[in-house]
Amino acid sequence: MSVSEFDYDLFVIGGGSGGVRAARVAASTGARVGVAEQYRYGGTCVIRGCVPKKLMVYASHFHEAFEDAAGFGWQVGEATFDWSTLIANKDREIGRLEGLYRKGVVGAGGEVFDTRAELAGPNSVRLLAQDRVVTAARILVATGGTPSRLAGLPGGEHAITSDDIFHLERQPDSIAIFGGGYIAVEFACILAGLGTKTTLVYRGEEILRGFDNDLRAGLHREMAKKGIEVVCGHTPTSIGLLSDGRREVTLSDARTLAVDHAMLAVGRRPQTDGLGLETAGVEVAASGHIKVDEFSKTTADAVWAVGDVTDRVALTPVAIHEAMCFVETEFKSNPTRPDHELIPTAVFSQPQIGTVGLTEAQAAEHYAELEVYLTEFSPMVHTLSGRDEKTVMKIIVDGASRRVVGVHVLSPDGGELAQTLGIALKSGATKDDFDRTMAVHPTAAEELVTMYAPSYRVRDGKRVD
Ligand code: NDP
Repeated sequence: MSVSEFDYDLFVIGGGSGGVRAARVAASTGARVGVAEQYRYGGTCVIRGCVPKKLMVYASHFHEAFEDAAGFGWQVGEATFDWSTLIANKDREIGRLEGLYRKGVVGAGGEVFDTRAELAGPNSVRLLAQDRVVTAARILVATGGTPSRLAGLPGGEHAITSDDIFHLERQPDSIAIFGGGYIAVEFACILAGLGTKTTLVYRGEEILRGFDNDLRAGLHREMAKKGIEVVCGHTPTSIGLLSDGRREVTLSDARTLAVDHAMLAVGRRPQTDGLGLETAGVEVAASGHIKVDEFSKTTADAVWAVGDVTDRVALTPVAIHEAMCFVETEFKSNPTRPDHELIPTAVFSQPQIGTVGLTEAQAAEHYAELEVYLTEFSPMVHTLSGRDEKTVMKIIVDGASRRVVGVHVLSPDGGELAQTLGIALKSGATKDDFDRTMAVHPTAAEELVTMYAPSYRVRDGKRVD
């Protein structure tokens, strides 16, 4: 078959961040593009992830903002919170964004299908709702991931996941959240901020494995100050249903908690079940992720995959970047490998974590000598609010080259800071570049350019003062 004999130049399975971006940009080159989505356009990020989560983060901040206002002379009357208003307003915004995602593809000349799609052969895709098979010169799988459940946990079916939390009819009075990663920590902070009695249960020694230890400990401390019970070193052993509809959670130390909801936030798995990958010759790893090469090509000649369905970095901007590189390579004759180096990221906890580059522990494995600059202080706003909340900033420098190899902040605007710090590190900034950058005064971020002497050094993996 010649390329023009196919129904499409590109057919995309999955209308999330990666799939929609690839479909839209490929269509704008004049390619004949179709995209199928089984649920709602926008995918996890827009429909039940980053976007609705961030709107809920904003909502949860007001509680402390009202309290903090008193120190600045404001008297705020008794504040009340209405969950259903937040959920309805959030849903309206998500509906608007979903419309934009569809419009983007159609406006660029692509076709959108509301259906589950499965591979039906090396160059063909079955559209289930239409009961039709279409052919395509290239197929892109961008089906994302879905929340993992704890197989074998007795009563695990009584737990909700992050897919459900956005649609609860009533705000839970109490919740137990299992996991210590992004989702567990973010939702613990959101729900506690909205007034839910929150317990976070994590199996490891400290939350947020993989992040810098000073920030992990710092955030744990701040969460505890906000009334979140953080239980480390334990797992749930069963979840029972009480006669009043609440859940009874038993932990590995035999303690029991009666809570309105138990939420699993124990990672996400790729959505590849029943996709027909084998009919096209697409191999998956033991984890279920689709195997891809450095250009996002699978083991099949005409099939590529981007985003969370592959085992790279499960973040929206990464999926979008991989999609852009795929289009650049396949539709613009410009072979482009996705760049996964130095990805800035944020945890929208309270305060937020913003981070780019290596943690101190990781850097100590790579470099013989490190300079570590560490500061902890009360941000200016809390001098009048009276709130006991600390900001932490940490810069890790390779002692030999003086290149900044990691920056980590725990601060109310940590996510915003991570973006600009990402530019600095991606540009290869040295500590001297930081030092000769003028401070912006008065800000918290000025600490990043005014820490002139290292707090300590790390030599051959050992801290030396
Ligand atoms: P994470 O991988 O961040 O965290 C999973 C957590 O579950 C870890 O604490 C892990 O523990 C724990 N866990 C895994 N398996 C078990 C088990 N069998 N029993 C008990 N605990 C277990 O996943 P999330 O679900 O929080 O988020 C999924 C992904 O979504 C993230 O990796 C991130 O890439 C993305 N995301 C990004 C956000 C952002 O950018 N702000 C926000 C939300 C999600 P351990 O560490 O010990 O393995």
